Amino acid sequence: MKIKEIHSSDLTASCMKFVQLRLQGKLRPAATTALFRGLVVGEALRYLHERVLHNGSEEPALYTLLVNEAVATVRKTLTDEGRTPTDAVETNMNEIVSDIGMFMENYYRRFKERFAASQFLGCEVPVRWKFAPRMPEFASHIDLLIRDRNGMLVFIDWKLREQAPTHAYLSRNLQFASYYGCCLEGKFLLSDGLSSEWKRFGEESIGVWLHVNHLAPFGRKTKCEDDRGMEREFVKGDDRPTRMSWREVEYHSNSIEMIRGQLMERVRLLKRDIFPSNPDPVGCTLCEAESFCPRFDTVL
Ligand code: SF4
Repeated sequence: MKIKEIHSSDLTASCMKFVQLRLQGKLRPAATTALFRGLVVGEALRYLHERVLHNGSEEPALYTLLVNEAVATVRKTLTDEGRTPTDAVETNMNEIVSDIGMFMENYYRRFKERFAASQFLGCEVPVRWKFAPRMPEFASHIDLLIRDRNGMLVFIDWKLREQAPTHAYLSRNLQFASYYGCCLEGKFLLSDGLSSEWKRFGEESIGVWLHVNHLAPFGRKTKCEDDRGMEREFVKGDDRPTRMSWREVEYHSNSIEMIRGQLMERVRLLKRDIFPSNPDPVGCTLCEAESFCPRFDTVL
């Protein structure tokens, strides 16, 4: 398969068969609930950052208004792409809007001071990295890019997955490692609102996996470590410790060679049309390519 550029989603998909089907355009046009929620959260958090969190503006009076605006934008984008939300999305729209409103409110309350002290560099920032000669460029979009109060470059990815990552998983996540490589050697399309230009940082950075579902309070009595590392009991309605939603990864600068090597290995597999299927009990149910993917049972 000829590959002009390599996207982060091609590297980190839980199933490479899905990547092959997606590259062949074999995705159903309906936008699933998981996809729709992810798009709305991204859009709504972008509004919160651009309009409120970095310029001392007042907290939004009604988060549902922001979320409804995000829903309208996402609907338009999907329509432009010839896609429509599934019936399940339409049936559960009120619940989706109210859930995301709750996440936004908690996001603002938990992180407003952290963000107020940081410099906002952009949301959905296009990024490119030519990581080796004769290899396609790495291309992606970073959910949020800031410079923190200590001057450190920080890239943040808003994740809506059910399962929170272990540190062992995070420290090996190739999407995050590639973003670190981009901060050192790649370029970012930054906008000042009037014009945009590609900029290179050439800097060390920190990655943050922001686990959005853990912005919801505990749903029942739970015993776990708080943010000071002390074991304590939380009751229903208590905030979860910040460390459960704000998951930082720091990188060793020696790892850049290894990151380049891993990227080259993935590209070599894709170029040779090696796309092993990797069925997953949850992933296959949610997979947009499921109806195109071969199966062995008698129920079609
Ligand atoms: S249905 Fe499952 S095995 Fe098939 S492409 Fe999707 S995730 Fe992979």
